[in-house]
Amino acid sequence: MPRLSFQPLEVIMKFDNFVNMSLNIPQTEKERIVVVGGGFGGLNFLKKINRKKFQIVLIDKNNYHNFQPLLYQVSMGGLEPDSIAYPLRKYVKGLGKEVFFRLCELQEIKPKEKKVITSRGELEYEHLVMAAGSQTNFFGNEAIKNYGLELKSVPNALDIRSIVLQNLEMALMTDDKEERKKLLNFVIVGGGPTGVELAGALSELKKFVFRKEYHDLDISEMNIYLLEGMDRLLGSMSEKASQKTYQYLEKLGTRIFLNTMVEDYDGEKVHTGDDNFIASFNLIWTAGVKGWVPKGIPDNLIAKGNRIKVNKYCQAEGIDNLFVIGDAAAMISKESTNGHPMLAQVAIQMGKQVAQNLNRIKKGKEPEAFHYNDKGVMATIGRKKAVADFKTLKLQGFLAWIVWLFVHLMFLVGYQNKLVVMLNWFIGYVNYDSPLRLIIRPFKK
Ligand SMILES: Cc1cc2nc3c(=O)[nH]c(=O)nc-3n(C[C@H](O)[C@H](O)[C@H](O)COP(=O)(O)OP(=O)(O)OC[C@H]3O[C@@H](n4cnc5c(N)ncnc54)[C@H](O)[C@@H]3O)c2cc1C
Repeated sequence: MPRLSFQPLEVIMKFDNFVNMSLNIPQTEKERIVVVGGGFGGLNFLKKINRKKFQIVLIDKNNYHNFQPLLYQVSMGGLEPDSIAYPLRKYVKGLGKEVFFRLCELQEIKPKEKKVITSRGELEYEHLVMAAGSQTNFFGNEAIKNYGLELKSVPNALDIRSIVLQNLEMALMTDDKEERKKLLNFVIVGGGPTGVELAGALSELKKFVFRKEYHDLDISEMNIYLLEGMDRLLGSMSEKASQKTYQYLEKLGTRIFLNTMVEDYDGEKVHTGDDNFIASFNLIWTAGVKGWVPKGIPDNLIAKGNRIKVNKYCQAEGIDNLFVIGDAAAMISKESTNGHPMLAQVAIQMGKQVAQNLNRIKKGKEPEAFHYNDKGVMATIGRKKAVADFKTLKLQGFLAWIVWLFVHLMFLVGYQNKLVVMLNWFIGYVNYDSPLRLIIRPFKK
């Protein structure tokens, strides 16, 4: 059976036919700051910059902010995509008349000319803040990239949701045992927070929802595999967090394989070396991220992980007025030899710091160096099960879960989103349900 794959959306993007497009930003006496990316870094920069002193243009290839930490809940039908995203135009509306938003993609930076080239035209700047985040790292394996699923964007999350549900439906209608196995084996690669959260949520769906809804399917044939190359899950967290997570997942029925590297995937077999493989149409790759570097950045500024090297002020060395923040930035020091971790808090704090520094420079003051304040790391495995490592406190179980819920609600953008998410969580908790189970991405039948 050919692997089921999505067809491109039928919607024709008519504006791709317009050739003479311009960003149409009014000329101004004020210095112009162009911000690339309305993620955690970009939005926190906008909050703190003195908007009376600068003209600010935010560009993003999407018209919404994506709260990535809750994407896995969208992919597992627990939350609607709109409740974890926030329209950037709505965000910018509240920031005054000198802040502009343009929906376009950065393609190239021309540092000498202080100009960005975007998919919709060029724009000159006085200061450029690069906050374009990161992308999935398939470590050069094109086959995994082609056949696997990733979880980085809202469309990715909806793809996963639709594929999972669609393959359960298909499993009911095939008489071929081998084919059913491939439809019902779900392989998650990467035992970091995203992999662990996905595995936990899918295992709970199987236990609480699919078991009842697919009463005519032998649900014991559905297997959730979590494959990790290292010798423990959540390698960046404490030993205790790793052990607890392993126990929680094992109890939920997840089949965990440590010290297991995925070598290849042809859409039907997940190869793990030594002729071992898992037959599966469903591989979800959460085993790595890397930065995104636009054209125009010199090679000597590109660090390990495809991130842009910055100094302690988040400035790209040797390029005047280019600041890089969040996942895209590699601030290498003795304490963090690979740069800071790719976490929301790093992006938030860098965004605020760069804005405050530009405000300081405007007042004739010296900028201040960035110091990352590590507020801790968390992962949730399921109902009442989470792990949280703070500087002096390590939490597991119910308490960690409550802290996880609270922190995620706090950082979600928009009051309405906070309310909707809270309500969904409450209903899901009471009903043991993840109610959003429409297959809405078109696929080849
Ligand atoms: C599934 C998942 C779960 C995560 N969970 C957690 C968690 O629990 N805790 C945590 O701390 N971190 C978590 N992270 C990491 C966290 O989301 C990132 O570290 C954070 O989003 C980085 O912020 P940023 O501003 O650098 O980039 P982002 O928030 O990714 O924002 C980048 C923005 O740039 C835009 N953009 C990209 N390229 C272009 C372009 N060429 N032109 C125009 N616009 C562009 C994008 O559309 C996006 O809006 C998670 C990440 C993922 C993928």
